[in-house]
Amino acid sequence: MIDRLVRWARRRSPWVLSYNTGGCNGCDIEILDLFTPRYDVERLGIIKEASPRHADILVCTGPVTRQSRDRLLRIYEQIPEPKWVIAVGICACSGGIVSDSYNVVGGIDQVLPVSMYVPGCPARPEAVMDAIVRLTETI
Ligand code: SF4
Repeated sequence: MIDRLVRWARRRSPWVLSYNTGGCNGCDIEILDLFTPRYDVERLGIIKEASPRHADILVCTGPVTRQSRDRLLRIYEQIPEPKWVIAVGICACSGGIVSDSYNVVGGIDQVLPVSMYVPGCPARPEAVMDAIVRLTETI
């Protein structure tokens, strides 16, 4: 019974943590748009969370650089189970135009299991919102 209640609450109100692993901030600005009155995703129960310990979904932007790889792993490990990862922007999906760079590991899926990919440069806020909603529908 309590499990069903927790699952219902998680599905109705996913808490989202965003992390930039080395991108240009273009996708981060689009993600921030979601929490402005224009998109207002809080009406859908989506909350922006600052601490990994309280988050359900990790939204990653940018290619994974060698410098950010360990931090990304540490953040992911701090998120309680069950947890999901969304890669936002072509950099996070595949490494993008800098994928051959000496200091780039690649896309997010080179380090973490990714549940949803949102391509684009930058990814549109509507696409990010759609990915979060679709992901919560699978919970
Ligand atoms: S996908 Fe484009 S906008 Fe997003 S982080 Fe990469 S270069 Fe910047």
